[in-house]
Amino acid sequence: MRDYSTLKTELIPDLIKSSIPTPFYVVDEELLIRNLEILKNTAKRAGCKILLAQKAFSMFAIYPLISKYLDGTTASGLYEAKLGHDEFGGETHIFSAAYSEREFEEISHICGHVIFNSVAQWKKYRDIALSNGCECGLRINPEHSTQEGHAIYDPCSFGSRLGITYDNLKKAGDDILNGISGLHFHTLCEQNSDALEETVMAFEEKFGSYLYNMKWLNLGGGHHITRADYDIERLISVITRLKQKYGVEIYLEPGEAVVLNTGFLVSEVLDVTENGITNAIIDASAACHMPDVLEMPYRPEIIKDGKYAEEPEILPYTVRIGSATCLAGDVIGDYSFEKPLKIGDKLVFCDMALYSMVKNNTFNGMKLPSIAVRRLSRDVELIKEFGYDDFKMRLS
Ligand SMILES: *Cc1c(COP(=O)(O)O)cnc(C)c1O
Repeated sequence: MRDYSTLKTELIPDLIKSSIPTPFYVVDEELLIRNLEILKNTAKRAGCKILLAQKAFSMFAIYPLISKYLDGTTASGLYEAKLGHDEFGGETHIFSAAYSEREFEEISHICGHVIFNSVAQWKKYRDIALSNGCECGLRINPEHSTQEGHAIYDPCSFGSRLGITYDNLKKAGDDILNGISGLHFHTLCEQNSDALEETVMAFEEKFGSYLYNMKWLNLGGGHHITRADYDIERLISVITRLKQKYGVEIYLEPGEAVVLNTGFLVSEVLDVTENGITNAIIDASAACHMPDVLEMPYRPEIIKDGKYAEEPEILPYTVRIGSATCLAGDVIGDYSFEKPLKIGDKLVFCDMALYSMVKNNTFNGMKLPSIAVRRLSRDVELIKEFGYDDFKMRLS
């Protein structure tokens, strides 16, 4: 298999010469299939099911391809559930921190698996969910953090509203599990299988005795399975042991890992200015089009003329890449290049399939980037373009 970073630079010329106006997202089928093969093979060897967590990626034009490899989708609410049900097929799962009465009836018709975040929510919707044939689960809080860097992504932090703690489950009494088919936890974020193994041990210590009566256990998302250094063997051994010991089916519901390193955002330099440093202003925005750059935060890789931009001061020309919005902090970062940037240059941001399109907004009236696919044939095909109406429509 060609190494990922070579493959990426090889496909850049196809994106640059495309006639699609910038900014646009493009998902590469070849890179996506690499991930999907890894996931499918892992699911097969572990004997588990893998669902796409749509909150990371909902570009349904490409669901027909993904659905050949994965077992279904999970949703964070009614709309994602409808999308998965209508466009992906397979199993439709849902978890929401709380369901509204207005929506629950419809949810219970669409979703085969419904996961509740509290004892009160389970009691409230129990009858309707069971009578519509849903398999019901409880989200557990194992109260075991395995991450330090990203507090906002840690559902086990002190005071977390996500998941039922052991004390709260105990307090509800054993009868509360009547009608419950499975347990769920989601505590990881971009992590390896050692963090999962550790969490499973903490989970079993408190909740293991309940598992014998369950049909399934859902290990949530945050498993970075398609990352080069991910220890798949360890994941498989954790899953195999859980299945043997408790006789449960296992679900994984990664979002990121499905589309990790498969997407790009192609943008163009609109102006270059000087103020003690060099600023390049581009037609894409961190705040609007890659909000995790500011929120998480992280620094996306940039490719220009087939080469990766470097950390500042490594190559001769250091430039701050910022957006055309009025927000002073709408800056992607400082990068260095071999040559000065000029108006009209195209910059390709890497790893832009996940948590990007789904988080887009039109702050400042910014245009939403178009959405494209690079097919296996190497054709870059425009799937969707947005215009003024997409901005206006949501505002009154
Ligand atoms: C966010 C989320 C996922 C997917 O997480 P990734 O980090 O994208 O893999 C899965 N399940 C639940 C409940 C989530 O909240």
